[in-house]
Amino acid sequence: MTLKPRLDAAAAAANMAEIEPAYSDQQAKVEADRCLYCFDAPCIMACPTGIDIPGFIKKIANGNNTGAGRTILSANILGASCARVCPTSVLCEGACVLLDRDQKPIKIGRLQRYATDHVYRKGVNGLNPSVPPSGKKVALIGGGPSSLGCAAELVRLGHEAVIFEKKPEAGGLNTYGIAYYKMPPQVSLEEVALVKSLGVEFRCGVEVGKDIAMDEILKEFDAVFVGIGLGHTHMLGVPGEELPEVVEALAFIEEFHTRPLHEVEVGRHVVVIGCGNTAIDAVTQAKRLGADTATIIYRRDEGDMPAYAYEYDIAKTDGCDFIFRAAPVKILGDGAVSGIRLVRTRPNGKGGVGPQPGTEFDVPCDMVIKALGQQKQGELLESLFPGIKLAANGKIDVDETTRQTSVDRVYAGGDAVNGGREVVNAVAEGKKAARGIHQALSGEAVEGPVQPTRIGVTGKPMGSGFNNPVRVPELERAYASGQKGS
Ligand SMILES: Cc1cc2nc3c(=O)[nH]c(=O)nc-3n(C[C@H](O)[C@H](O)[C@H](O)COP(=O)(O)OP(=O)(O)OC[C@H]3O[C@@H](n4cnc5c(N)ncnc54)[C@H](O)[C@@H]3O)c2cc1C
Repeated sequence: MTLKPRLDAAAAAANMAEIEPAYSDQQAKVEADRCLYCFDAPCIMACPTGIDIPGFIKKIANGNNTGAGRTILSANILGASCARVCPTSVLCEGACVLLDRDQKPIKIGRLQRYATDHVYRKGVNGLNPSVPPSGKKVALIGGGPSSLGCAAELVRLGHEAVIFEKKPEAGGLNTYGIAYYKMPPQVSLEEVALVKSLGVEFRCGVEVGKDIAMDEILKEFDAVFVGIGLGHTHMLGVPGEELPEVVEALAFIEEFHTRPLHEVEVGRHVVVIGCGNTAIDAVTQAKRLGADTATIIYRRDEGDMPAYAYEYDIAKTDGCDFIFRAAPVKILGDGAVSGIRLVRTRPNGKGGVGPQPGTEFDVPCDMVIKALGQQKQGELLESLFPGIKLAANGKIDVDETTRQTSVDRVYAGGDAVNGGREVVNAVAEGKKAARGIHQALSGEAVEGPVQPTRIGVTGKPMGSGFNNPVRVPELERAYASGQKGS
């Protein structure tokens, strides 16, 4: 096995530190003052969770940072992580009217981070439980962003919400999958703590379908939200894939979140297959953890890559390499990976690409990371909900407005429904489902923000996550005791 830790603790921590530093008070004020506070703000429409962006920026400009944080968290309970991980250039910032004036858009993501960091440092909590309890109970399967968004909205509407999560900690990919340099997992864990403080119950380490039967849940609860995300990475389907240094991108990235960074093993010459955002996260993190070379292999052209342009820029800045128009044929090695055989590709006349016989070439490497996209969870869904209507591609079919599935009392959102988008889409879909569930349980439709006052400031700092530490003892403990999920 040629994989090993390559950096000491200080170097690993420095390389993985958040790439976007926090704004100082003065920087935030100067940036907030540039905002035009548009009446019909296109940035609000571009935000799937509909945050009142000009409203919170105005509050920052006036020095009311707590109010700004409250505005954000009322619309998006995961506002702190979305501030760090949202592809803002294609969402709110991409819609900023300043772009029409050939000026730089307002740095909405960084201002959002400034405001949410402020309230987390002060200690946020779910206060003012002014809504009378409905007596209704909703179970949420999976503890990722979609379920957190749904559960927060449900308790604000007066319902009980219980999250079942198979991993030791909730947060889903926000806790276990986001690139470390975009957001350390502590931020996600503190958001989970905020959702808990609103009154949501978490049953972690419980896999639905294995540790508890769906029938039991359906008997106990009035409605169910399914937020199970996606499954394992697609297989390459080439000889040599079983070698020990061939790993799934998600498993590799999860290591950063469950072990001290300087103990994570990486190859000296790493090859990543695929060119989506997950592939970029894997290749940059391999490089930042000390790989001499880290190379993306993609079967199409540079212009076809699904990764966002800013993600591609990060990888290029980090010194990662790219081989376009090539596909794997075989992973080479006798007991351990020693290289990968590739073949050049060309258009196949049907909109795809195919191999060009006779163009094979070898690239030496000692680690191969598969990042070909995650599989849908069709099999699991059919076993949990026999007869559930799935689209041909395995995604759950839901009503666009209520998010109800074809199964009575069962709703769904997030990656399992949209096939894999962003954290903010998952939160928005969870919120929408909560309103669909509320309408079904109470007969009342909900318009506009729900109970914005239910975010209070306690004066007790939440934890250490917003000081950007690089160790996560709770996740490391769970890993060390073998409770890591799959
Ligand atoms: C590597 C990677 C990097 C990403 N980077 C970004 C980014 O930078 N910015 C961004 O906005 N988005 C990013 N995304 C996308 C984002 O993470 C997802 O869209 C979002 O997490 C989806 O939320 P979810 O709740 O639908 O699913 P998930 O986050 O996948 O959560 C699903 C949860 O359900 C649990 N679960 C599954 N089955 C069961 C069961 N049977 N019983 C109990 N629990 C179960 C899982 O353990 C998991 O915790 C990234 C995705 C990946 C894979």
